[in-house]
Amino acid sequence: MQSRRKFLQNTALLGVGSALSNPLLAENKLQIEKDRPFPIVIATWNNEKAVKAAYQVIKSGGRAVDAVEMGAKVPEADPNDTSVGYGGFPDRDGHVTLDACIMDEFGNAGSVMFLEDIMHPISVARMVMEKTPHVFLAGEGAQQFALENGFEKQNLLTDKAKQALEEWRKTSQYQPKINVERHDTIGILAADSNGNFGGACSTSGLAFKMRGRVGDSPIIGAGLYVDNEVGAATATGLGEVVVKKVGAFSIVEMMRNGKSPQQACEEAIKRLQNLKNIQDLQVGYIAVSKKGEIGAFSVHPGFQYAVVQKGKFRLVDSKSLFSEKK
Ligand code: ASP
Repeated sequence: MQSRRKFLQNTALLGVGSALSNPLLAENKLQIEKDRPFPIVIATWNNEKAVKAAYQVIKSGGRAVDAVEMGAKVPEADPNDTSVGYGGFPDRDGHVTLDACIMDEFGNAGSVMFLEDIMHPISVARMVMEKTPHVFLAGEGAQQFALENGFEKQNLLTDKAKQALEEWRKTSQYQPKINVERHDTIGILAADSNGNFGGACSTSGLAFKMRGRVGDSPIIGAGLYVDNEVGAATATGLGEVVVKKVGAFSIVEMMRNGKSPQQACEEAIKRLQNLKNIQDLQVGYIAVSKKGEIGAFSVHPGFQYAVVQKGKFRLVDSKSLFSEKK
C-alpha cells in the first residue's frame, strides 16, 4: 500500500507535470509574475548606486532587510557623501557622529545613535537588532558593542569635511539650508519578491550640529517604520520636526487606515504647515504599500527619490507643498 507521504509526493509531482505541460497554466503563471509590483527598492535622494546594490541582493535571494543594509552601506562608505557615514560633516566641535536604524519583516528593530569612528552604523544597528535584547544603543556604549563585535575604529573626518567646518566657523550660523549637502540622509525601503519588507535609515545628521544632538533618523517611528502587513515609510530633512510628528509611523498608520502612500506622505507634510519656520526647512517622506504603490512628498521642491522596480531604475522628482524652488 502506498504511504501517505509517497501519495502526497506523487500528487505534487503530478501537479507540476500538468502545469508544465499545460501552456495555459504556464502562461498564467508568467502573467502573475509580470503583474507583481515586487521586488522593489526605493530610497531618498539620488541614491542610484544604493538602490541598485540593494536590488541585486534581493535578486540573489536575499531578504529585504539584507538588501536595505547593503544599500545603506553604499553612501556610508562614500567620502563624497557629506551627510552619511565616512565623509559626513561633523558637529560644531569637529566630531563625526552617526545615527542609523533598521527594521525587518517581523517588526524587529535595531538602532545606534551618536556613534563615532565606525564606518557602517547600519550594520551595527542590525547587530543590535539581532544580537541584543535592546532596540537603541547610544554613544560610547554603541561603539563598545561595535568593537566587541568585530567592527574597527576609523577616522571618518575627511579633509573636505574639515575644510567645510572651518568655513562654517567663520560665521557659525546654525541655519540648515534647504536641499543642500545637509540633507542627504539615506532612507531605503525594500520588498522582496514575496512582498516582505525591510527598511533602513542612516545619517551623520545635521552638519555642525551641537555635540550630542540626535535627529529623527535612528528613531524607530520617526525616521523609519516598517509594518509587513501595511508597508513602510522613511524620512529625510530636518529631524527635529520629523521626530515631533513621529513622521514615518504616522504615514504607515494612515496607509493602514486606507490612504495610499502618496496621500499619506502628503498628509504627513501638511501636518507641518503651521510651523513658523516652514519656509526655511525641508522634509521629504517616501513610502511603499503592501500593494507595491509608491508615495513621496516634501515641503519644498528639489527632493528626489530613487527606485528600482522589476529591474528598472528611475529617479523621480517628488511633488511638494510649495511649488517655488528656494
Ligand atoms: N534627518 C536627518 C537629521 O535630522 C538629516 C537629513 O535628513 O538631512 O539628522
